Amino acid sequence: MIKGLLRYLEKGVSPFHTAELAAEELSRAGFQELSLEGSWQLQKGGCYYVRAFGSSLFAFRVNRAFGYCQGFRIGAAHTDWPCLRLKTAPDWEKEGYAGINAEVYGGPILNTWLDRPLSAAGRVTLRGEGCFKPETRLVDFGRPIFTIPNLAIHVNHDVNKGVELNKQADMAPLAALSGDDKEPFMTALAKELHCRREDILFFELSVYDWEKPALLGLKEEFLSSPRLDNITSVKACVDGLLAGPGRDTGVDMIALFDHEEIGSRTKQGAGSALLTAVMEKICLSFGYTEEDCLNSRLKSFFLSVDVGHGKHPSHPEKSDVTNQVRLNGGVALKAESNQKYATDGEAFGAVRSLCDQYGIPYQLFANRSDVGSGSTLGSIASSFTVMPTAEVGVPLLAMHSARELMGVEDQKALTELLTRFWAEP
Ligand SMILES: [Zn+2]
Repeated sequence: MIKGLLRYLEKGVSPFHTAELAAEELSRAGFQELSLEGSWQLQKGGCYYVRAFGSSLFAFRVNRAFGYCQGFRIGAAHTDWPCLRLKTAPDWEKEGYAGINAEVYGGPILNTWLDRPLSAAGRVTLRGEGCFKPETRLVDFGRPIFTIPNLAIHVNHDVNKGVELNKQADMAPLAALSGDDKEPFMTALAKELHCRREDILFFELSVYDWEKPALLGLKEEFLSSPRLDNITSVKACVDGLLAGPGRDTGVDMIALFDHEEIGSRTKQGAGSALLTAVMEKICLSFGYTEEDCLNSRLKSFFLSVDVGHGKHPSHPEKSDVTNQVRLNGGVALKAESNQKYATDGEAFGAVRSLCDQYGIPYQLFANRSDVGSGSTLGSIASSFTVMPTAEVGVPLLAMHSARELMGVEDQKALTELLTRFWAEP
């Protein structure tokens, strides 16, 4: 299981690549691909997946006894993570150096991106057969091509007191020495794609930490890696669904959304009509009416899977007084009455019962009242999906650092929880 997670962490270098990894694994397991805008002829007992805009994906199993107004059980995670993204015209040149112009995506800890070997990956749009038929291709440089060098302490004496980094001036990845070519990155990108530079119309490229994930600790009890938020959850959702055979009734589904780190309110984010459209298409394909579809939705359950904050050994004062979680202590069950975590009583009760019944280690998590937290896609999705919602995930240290830390045992607990989630009647 951990080997599989390591592979996802290493290869999931952009939201597009993460969705692709899930698609490949589902396809190998016999899930059949559907097109989002196609007419669906689904079978009971069938397993399917559908991609949306390249970086979001839904996979589902229609259980054998699926019938009128039965609910969906949905495990959801996000495919994106905070990072730098290349701007449309990326090449810059100054002081004898060349580099790329990048913008900050989401909320990374900026100083953790300095002095690292960085690469780039994502999706490129190329000139196609016609204006409305451009070609899209995934690309991953797969080798270190950028770095953002720190200023030496000798000329930056206060650096250890904490220095504010400017998102434009300081977060400028260096790529080469300047030369005759004024667009060396665009040249390199065309070479990588074996295409002409003028055929590149657009790209959605993430700068990523090229260093590999590593098991860490005297007993390898930790995992240090980029992108733990939220590939741990993506992988647990895929593993849990594939562990099958699932229930007899209803539909078991995973929903992997892009754009959680920037608020989810986009067409491929959790704050869109995408999930409900997919659910409706499933019901309609079995001949159910619009009202049946709605009733199915109202009988469904949404499990939002995303990482939580583990208690930091040097800063225990940042954790709540009675709801603290630690690495390798089990899955964090998250709750917040202000609904940054969407957990409600019915859903929380169901998840806690599952953990108790199957001996899955879990911990109760809440934020300290005077320390705000980030939100997850759960609260945003719940306003659309209108179904009981709970929030779970593995605890991390250094969330949103270029390299985060987790406990290996927690991934096992999370995967077991997802497996039981889709097996329990
Ligand atoms: Zn997250």
